[in-house]
Amino acid sequence: MAELKETTEDTQDYKIEIRDVFFDYVQNKSKYEALKEINLNVKEGEFICILGSSGCGKSTLLSLLGGLNKPRSGEIRIDGKKIKGPGTDRAIVFQQYSLFPWLTVKGNVLFGIKQSGKKLSRKERNALAEKYVENVGLSGAKDRYPSQLSGGMKQRVAVARALALESDVLLLDEPFGAIDPKLRLELQELVSKLCTQHKKTVVFITHDVDEAILLADRIVVMEPGRIRSIHEVKLPHPRVREELVGTTEYEKLHRQLIMAFYDQVAERIDAEVAL
Ligand code: ADP
Ligand code: MG
Repeated sequence: MAELKETTEDTQDYKIEIRDVFFDYVQNKSKYEALKEINLNVKEGEFICILGSSGCGKSTLLSLLGGLNKPRSGEIRIDGKKIKGPGTDRAIVFQQYSLFPWLTVKGNVLFGIKQSGKKLSRKERNALAEKYVENVGLSGAKDRYPSQLSGGMKQRVAVARALALESDVLLLDEPFGAIDPKLRLELQELVSKLCTQHKKTVVFITHDVDEAILLADRIVVMEPGRIRSIHEVKLPHPRVREELVGTTEYEKLHRQLIMAFYDQVAERIDAEVAL
């Protein structure tokens, strides 16, 4: 089941390599060690979910993968090359929709395409935007502005904009955290389908055990600053939640994850109560 540290000798086989990564936040002379030692290899086309309670360093890790922050020590490589900053080889989707309110659905997706730096004609950019707006089921709403969209629709736009960059790697930070459960299921299935279709290597952050089982090839459970355990999900894709629940494999994995995840939440609450 769980392996805590992976070997990192053969660098060619991995899309993403995270090696001995340490990161601390420095504020007014005080330091907070958000990531103590992270080691993880991700294969090309793999869908990784990072599961962990609030404050354990998930977003910090994603910001390092995105090149928004740099590790204080250790390194992250993509395709064998060390990350030096943000790049068009990675697209990020945040929990906050982060759409431009003055641009339409299509305008927001077009903006992503322009940022990608690809040399495309106006017509090609338009066709690409239309394609990804359609991919997320928003063709009928392409001329609407963000204020005219529901939360679920806004997040579909954010996903379309990220896909339109056509990067190999997709990084998502609790993208459906603010979305109601039924819509959330629809979006999870959509992301799962699109990532398979477009052969993405994905790092998806969540604190939802069911979401992780539905999406991931491997689930990385974090505890503050560290990886606690890694769990392989051997269930075939595409996964349908109603068909999974109750199967032996699902129940076993669910139990393992709940123990790995909630035990540490309980440990933390105990520690806080004891203070
Ligand atoms: P998660 O995404 O798992 O909730 P974060 O990566 O956002 O956790 O944060 C990890 C830890 O680092 C938390 O204790 C948080 O308070 C702290 N932290 C996050 N951002 C900053 C910052 N800009 N300055 C100082 N501490 C921070
Ligand atoms: Mg976070």
